[in-house]
Amino acid sequence: MALVERFLKYVSFDTQSSEETEVTPSTPGQMVFARYLKEELESLGLEDITLDEHGYLFATLPANIDKPVPSIGFIAHMDTSPDMSGKDVSPRIVQNYDGSDIVLCEEEKVVLSPEQFPELLDHKGEDLIVTNGKTLLGADDKAGIAEIVSAIVYLKEHPEIKHGKIRIGFNPDEEIGLGAHKFIVEKFGCDWAYTMDGGEAGELEFENFNAASAKITFKGRNVHPGYAKNKMINSIRVANRFCAMLPGHETPEHTEGYEGFYHLISFNGDVEQTTVAYIIRDHDRARFETRKKEMEQFVQKINAEYGEGTAKLELRDQYYNMREKIEPVMHIIDTAFAAMEAVGVKPNVKPIRGGTDGAQLSFKGLPCPNIFAGGLNFHGRYEFIPIQNMEKAMNVIVKIAELVAAK
Ligand SMILES: [Zn+2]
Repeated sequence: MALVERFLKYVSFDTQSSEETEVTPSTPGQMVFARYLKEELESLGLEDITLDEHGYLFATLPANIDKPVPSIGFIAHMDTSPDMSGKDVSPRIVQNYDGSDIVLCEEEKVVLSPEQFPELLDHKGEDLIVTNGKTLLGADDKAGIAEIVSAIVYLKEHPEIKHGKIRIGFNPDEEIGLGAHKFIVEKFGCDWAYTMDGGEAGELEFENFNAASAKITFKGRNVHPGYAKNKMINSIRVANRFCAMLPGHETPEHTEGYEGFYHLISFNGDVEQTTVAYIIRDHDRARFETRKKEMEQFVQKINAEYGEGTAKLELRDQYYNMREKIEPVMHIIDTAFAAMEAVGVKPNVKPIRGGTDGAQLSFKGLPCPNIFAGGLNFHGRYEFIPIQNMEKAMNVIVKIAELVAAK
């Protein structure tokens, strides 16, 4: 089964994950897909194939050389985003794309146009897999799975390419932030790994945000408004004052690259009580810690003004920048870089403005940068993937395996 055929088969499985269910995998469709993949890996003759009760599927392509070589892994996630349906995905291939508008759905007037998505024009002359405008495509991350399986098949068919032990890992529930939670790093047993879960060809990521959440509860004092002078404390106003203390330009809509932010995500209240929630993000660990301190100081300021206990802060760290775990093993980035260049892909290193499974795995002891899978416009009906990007990603996997063994 060729790369594209494999991808089209994979996206036919509905594996949308869900924040609601509190089980792993979060939806039964992911397990159905995992069982299908397990059978495929068996039929390909891989070894040590295990699928656990949480939907984590591991397998091994044994080394074909005698000298000791590091064991490396390639990882992709089986679920698709809860943001949009992944049921009855009905993709279409636009051959030799000419740069014009692509009508995804005639009746609902859904058009994939270079006007809104100028990156389409980078793929003129290529073959694009697009949706029918009613679902997402699921290239995030079934492209990653198809690329990994196809690269393994390629390595099996080309024994002249020498490689060490390669492990592959497919996990559920990445899109709800839980992909790494039940990933048993010891059982995977690799020196390092790569997630194949980035976007455009060339993407290589090993830096992500440090992340914390903050919840602040403001207590007010409600009194009849006609007799409230010097008595009432309106918690909505107090909460507003607090929000105004935080730097107004350090928000998601005003930042990019390595700039961190405070993001107000909810504000609920009445006179008696108001609750405000923020997420705090920064690539730099020291600045991240400063941001949390700053929030504590503003809460103290509110309490000094309105009385102790008016504002209560709950801070919780969510995840950390993987860079500190990658820096001691920078050769794994160098290898990915060299592999891309060897197959004619220009590496494009950029910081992730979010988290990744790879960051959590890195902190669990498996250094795990992220490599492109090739899709664009993830999580919605405009998602598409150039077939040429998938081929590039597959070539990168093969080349990494080769380079690691050649060292
Ligand atoms: Zn993904």
